[in-house]
Amino acid sequence: AKNEGRNRFSYFTPALQEQVQKRIRLINDLRGALAGGQMRVYFQAIVDLSNGQIYKAEALLRWLHPLRGMVSPAEFIPLAEETRLIIEIGDWVFNESAAWVKRWRTHFMAHLQVSVNQSPVQFAKNNSNDQWLAYLHDQGLPGEAIVIEITESLLLDSDAEVKASLLKFRGQGVQIAIDDFGTGYSSLSYLKKFSIDYLKIDQSFIRNLAPGSSDMALTEAIIVMAHKLGLKVIAEGVETIEQRDLLIGAGCDFAQGYLFSKPVPPEEFELLIQAGL
Ligand code: C2E
Ligand code: CA
Ligand code: CA
Ligand code: CA
Repeated sequence: AKNEGRNRFSYFTPALQEQVQKRIRLINDLRGALAGGQMRVYFQAIVDLSNGQIYKAEALLRWLHPLRGMVSPAEFIPLAEETRLIIEIGDWVFNESAAWVKRWRTHFMAHLQVSVNQSPVQFAKNNSNDQWLAYLHDQGLPGEAIVIEITESLLLDSDAEVKASLLKFRGQGVQIAIDDFGTGYSSLSYLKKFSIDYLKIDQSFIRNLAPGSSDMALTEAIIVMAHKLGLKVIAEGVETIEQRDLLIGAGCDFAQGYLFSKPVPPEEFELLIQAGL
C-alpha cells in the first residue's frame, strides 16, 4: 500500500506542479484584473468586400497583466470560463462595446455594427441575454448596432431554451453570427432550426486558400450554401491580397484580418473610421 501511494504521487512531477501553480496564480490575478483596470476591449475592422469599406468591427478582449504583459485570450478565456468569471467579464465587454459603438454611430458612422463574443458559459446563465439587452437600451442603441458571435457547439444541444434565448436577441434586432464555422461538428441541421444571420469561416480554411485547393472548394461550398439559406458570410484571418481576391471571386460578403487591420485600441479604431477607410 505504501508503494502504491508513492506511485500515485510520482505523477506529480516538479514540472507539473509548476504548471498547476502558474494556473492558480493566473486565476487569482484574473479575479482582480477587471477592478484593477487591466482589461481593455480592442476592435478589429470587418470590411465589406463589395467596396472595401468598414461597416463592422469585432470586439476582442485584451488583458495587460502587470508582470506578464499581454496575456492571450486563448490562454485566459478558458480559465475565465472554468471559474465562471467570464460572466462578469463578458458583461463588462458588452457594456464597453455598446458605449463605443454608441459614440461612433453618433459621430462618425451611423450604421456601424459591433460583434461581441458570447461564451457558452455566459449564454447558459439565466437572464444573461436580458442583461445584455438592458445595457443596449441604457445606451439608447437599436439592436442592429450589435452582432452576437456564438459557436456551433452551443447549437448542437438544440434545446428550447437556446432557441428562446436567441429569438429574444433577434426580436430586438440583434443579429447572430456563428463563429469559427467549419471547425465544429458541422451538423448543418441547426442552420435551418435557428435564425442565424452570419457564418464566419474559420481562419484555418482561409490560411491555405489557393485555386483548386480543398480549402478553396470548402470555402466556395460554404458561401453558396449560406447564400441559399439567406445568410451572409464573413471570412476570418485574411492576411494577403491573394486571399482577398479569391474570396471576392467566390462571392464572399465580408472579410476580417491583418490585411485590413489588426485588433486595435478604440482610440485607434476611431481614427480608421474617421478617415472613412
Ligand atoms: P475569435 O473570436 O475567433 O477571434 C478571432 C481571432 O483571430 C482573434 O484572436 C484575432 O486577433 C485573430 N485574428 C484576426 N485577424 C487575424 C489574421 O489575419 N491572422 C491571424 N493569425 N489571426 C487573426 P484573439 O484576439 O487572440 O482572440 C482569441 C479568441 O479569444 C477569440 O477567437 C475568441 O474566441 C476569444 N475571445 C476574445 N475576446 C473575447 C471576449 O470578449 N469574450 C469571449 N467570450 N471570448 C473572447
Ligand atoms: Ca469571434
Ligand atoms: Ca472566429
Ligand atoms: Ca477562434
